[in-house]
Amino acid sequence: MCGIVGYIGNEQAAPVLLDGLARLEYRGYDSAGVAVYDGKEIEVVKSKGKLAVLSDMIHGGKDIKGTVGIGHTRWATHGAPSDTNAHPHLSQSGRFAVVHNGIIENYLELKQRLMSKGIEFLSETDTEVIAHMVEYYYKGDIFDTMVKVLNRVEGSYALGVISVDNPDEIVAVRKDSPLIVGTSENGNFIASDVPAILNKTRDVYYLEEKEIVFLRRDGVEIYNFDREPVKKDLTHIDWDADAAEKGGYEHFMIKEIMEQPKAIANTVESRIKNGRIVLDNITLTAEQIKSFDKIYIIACGSAYHAGMVGKYVLEQLTRKPVEIDLASEFRYRSPIVTDKTLVIAVSQSGETADTLAAMNEAKRLGARTLSIVNVVGSAIAKQSDDVIYTLAGPEIAVATTKAYSCQLAVFYLLALYIAQETKIIDCDKLNDMINELLLIPEKVQSILDKKEDIQYFASRHFADKDIFFIGRNLDYAVCLEGSLKLKEISYIHSEAYAAGELKHGTISLIEDGTLVVAVATIDRLFEKTMSNVVEVITRGATVLGVTKETKTIMADTCNFIFYVPESIDIFMPSLSVIPLQLFGYYVASMKGCDIDKKRNLAKSVTVE
Ligand code: GLU
Repeated sequence: MCGIVGYIGNEQAAPVLLDGLARLEYRGYDSAGVAVYDGKEIEVVKSKGKLAVLSDMIHGGKDIKGTVGIGHTRWATHGAPSDTNAHPHLSQSGRFAVVHNGIIENYLELKQRLMSKGIEFLSETDTEVIAHMVEYYYKGDIFDTMVKVLNRVEGSYALGVISVDNPDEIVAVRKDSPLIVGTSENGNFIASDVPAILNKTRDVYYLEEKEIVFLRRDGVEIYNFDREPVKKDLTHIDWDADAAEKGGYEHFMIKEIMEQPKAIANTVESRIKNGRIVLDNITLTAEQIKSFDKIYIIACGSAYHAGMVGKYVLEQLTRKPVEIDLASEFRYRSPIVTDKTLVIAVSQSGETADTLAAMNEAKRLGARTLSIVNVVGSAIAKQSDDVIYTLAGPEIAVATTKAYSCQLAVFYLLALYIAQETKIIDCDKLNDMINELLLIPEKVQSILDKKEDIQYFASRHFADKDIFFIGRNLDYAVCLEGSLKLKEISYIHSEAYAAGELKHGTISLIEDGTLVVAVATIDRLFEKTMSNVVEVITRGATVLGVTKETKTIMADTCNFIFYVPESIDIFMPSLSVIPLQLFGYYVASMKGCDIDKKRNLAKSVTVE
């Protein structure tokens, strides 16, 4: 998910690789490494932590000789950040070195097979299977080998491979993970993203899915898996490095909003095998799950809002009582926790101090703990009994979007998993839900394709002073997140209210022209929410309705309407939150706010 750079040419490779990796630092990473071939053997140097640590180890690259090499910044998905788990990974004999971005979903099965053939693994990564497989299948033809390996691999990858046997070549390939090729008179490059090579060349080829490229000192050849050459036009890049880092988007936040279909697909697809939810590494047994008489969800900020959706979904699917609390409150309230309590801690960074302390307090009281975390090897991940990672990739913008969406996805997976293991819902219903969950990424994409509608709506409201969000049940949980998104980046005062609660208080704040965003996606509560919409309209509010495509009736009452695709009720938050994120983003952008760095806020809150 992070950075790859490869170089073959007339210059020394190591400094070029370090420079390229430094230009990909914005993508976030936890370790870095390079592999360079010097005519005798492949030298690999790698280290946990900042690129500067690696660079110091090899004196800016001067210590490593060779004009062909691959480099990597890793964002761990399988195995904690460590020197050993950092890429590149070598094959058993050291003849092949591999860098990989992405996730090999069937790595466990492949690993077992390779181990049964006597191959020893050094790291805990999924990637290492590729290095060993390449060597295992290599019979003199690297193209043939790569196709054999890739036909056996499931998941996503951008790969760079160098080998002792083909010393004047880098082989690279991509599927569901970005990779570009750069060409110049001084040599050729691969990189996960254009900024890595912009100071060396502006001429690039964009690789498509399952294209395999051979880089030599004097040229580049691209093929498909059937060994047919692919003809491509060279693209000349004329944007500056800053724009390139954001993939052409103006801010990381909108880039990350747009990455959500991919992030959700990564999080979900690797956990569904043959129609069943498979949570590798979860040690919870069905018996233990059955024995829980209470589930607590503890979190802060947007993770708390994701937890609120989690509460509704878990209660509905597992019929266990679920309580949600803010981590900073939970830890000081003498919570009633026993060894029959499951405590779920949610945190993007895995370092949120309040959540960590609350989780440890629960542990002390005897609870079983499970965390939902984005950063592999983080404190919360390490200290919980079980962890399910959100595979969102690094999130740079301070306002979370894709990590939140992936937290929802993990709650769905977990609830379905518990239902599956305890057999509380029948097989057909479970299958329908699993199939529907797999469709969420494309439905999110279809909403993103209409982002201009929200942009237009935002252009009419970016000068508002107060904006309210109303909804019931799951829609209310989404409203809390939509309201937070708006206020944290645009600094417009906003509140989210459970629609039925409005009349007990804040309705008095609704005046002529006050904007109310009403989310109504739950069939059985639609009429109820509509009554609340009418109440605010009567008091002069302007209403943006967010509902399902089938509820066209809402358009008759509201001033504006935004439709999201149909889905099963429990999955609607994944869809209805998207227009709200876009609304917050566009409003803040039109107000000229510094979107990626919010006033007074840090990305991971590591203090109490
Ligand atoms: N899944 C691989 C790992 O955990 C690659 C991660 C990445 O894309 O940086 O090592």
